[in-house]
Amino acid sequence: MIIRRGEQELVSFSSNDYLGLSQHPEAVAAANLATSSYGTGAGASRLVTGNHPLYRQLETALAKWKGEEAACVFGSGYLTNLGVIGALMGKEDIILADKLSHACLLDGALLSGATVRRFVHNDVDSCRKLLKEKRNNYGNCLLVTEAVFSMDGDLAPLAALAALAAEYDAWLLVDEAHALFGSRDWTAEGRSVIRTGTLSKALGSYGGYVCGSQALIAYLQTAARSLIYSTALPPGVLAAALAALAVEEREPQRAKKALENAQCFTRLMGLPPAQSAIVPLVIGEESRAMHLSAALQRSGYLVAAIRPPTVPPGTARLRFTFSASHTQSQLHGLVEALKKQMEGQAA
Ligand SMILES: *Cc1c(COP(=O)(O)O)cnc(C)c1O
Repeated sequence: MIIRRGEQELVSFSSNDYLGLSQHPEAVAAANLATSSYGTGAGASRLVTGNHPLYRQLETALAKWKGEEAACVFGSGYLTNLGVIGALMGKEDIILADKLSHACLLDGALLSGATVRRFVHNDVDSCRKLLKEKRNNYGNCLLVTEAVFSMDGDLAPLAALAALAAEYDAWLLVDEAHALFGSRDWTAEGRSVIRTGTLSKALGSYGGYVCGSQALIAYLQTAARSLIYSTALPPGVLAAALAALAVEEREPQRAKKALENAQCFTRLMGLPPAQSAIVPLVIGEESRAMHLSAALQRSGYLVAAIRPPTVPPGTARLRFTFSASHTQSQLHGLVEALKKQMEGQAA
């Protein structure tokens, strides 16, 4: 995880390349081969002439990896959520979204014209209360959350939300953009679960996808406007994602390693154990977070300071992301530099 900024080499703790797959020789070779065979661009929307056979291969592999019936690849994670929510929901409907849902989930919800309410972050009772009050006044109902929250790294109570969705005849949309693992460890009744994600984080390529039931995917292919009216992805991008997925399935220890690296960091820092590859260190004041980030950069570590409005006021933070490709010495070096800076600031 070394990046270069001008003359300086930095160890990055700010990349979403959790499995180190964006640099993997097999992914690079697959992208090169597809590009030299088919050219750099798709030339048209998938529904016109851009539907390269690699799409089918990638969608089959994604559905299998996630343990779902079918998958559909979009131009990006952002376009996936916009298209999926817009295709399913309209002005007679209601969307209940976790308060900390990613901007593109909220944009999709607003753009759909449905009524949108937000429930307290990861609070199943708050969601239930809204369902009790509102559900009966609307047609379709969609619950929206993230498997791993992008700024806090905590996990949603998915089994409980799925049970609520079943009880209240709602769909549950789970954005898995920051998830490291394929098949889910929670179950849901019926076919009410919709899982979206991105090819540009753990899989190191670019693009987005949705997976779920055969019927859902068939419907989305004819109704999701961000799929229909946007140019297909370049063949090299699809080939890279497909190759990365093959490596991921062959080497499941990569996902475990990313999580273990995050947990090693939280242990060394005396923080609560990491639940995912994302660890926030809430600093509070914006300027202090900026200073810490700058000081770490001078010591050779790239760590982003995240400020409002991306996070709530007063919770400016350093956001660390861990990858399977970080070494023990890089982790220890980071912790040493961070402790030194924090003690220096406190003094
Ligand atoms: C990054 C992210 C997206 C967008 O994915 P892209 O492929 O980068 O457009 C969507 N949802 C969440 C939660 C994300 O963190």
